[in-house]
Amino acid sequence: MTCPICRKDSNERFRPFCSGRCADVDLGRWLGGEYSLPGPDHDDDHDDRAKAGETGPQKDRQRQ
Ligand SMILES: [Zn+2]
Repeated sequence: MTCPICRKDSNERFRPFCSGRCADVDLGRWLGGEYSLPGPDHDDDHDDRAKAGETGPQKDRQRQ
């Protein structure tokens, strides 16, 4: 396995990272919102809410 930050071999102690430093970098990215969340899905959800008046009931039916 390789460190997702710097692509070095990961250290068992800090898996999946190679060091505590890279783990910190990853945490910082999460907190800073730099990580790309499942974007498209997220945006779709927002879109539906924007026009909730019309699409709300339909969405409920889709969920069942
Ligand atoms: Zn690393």
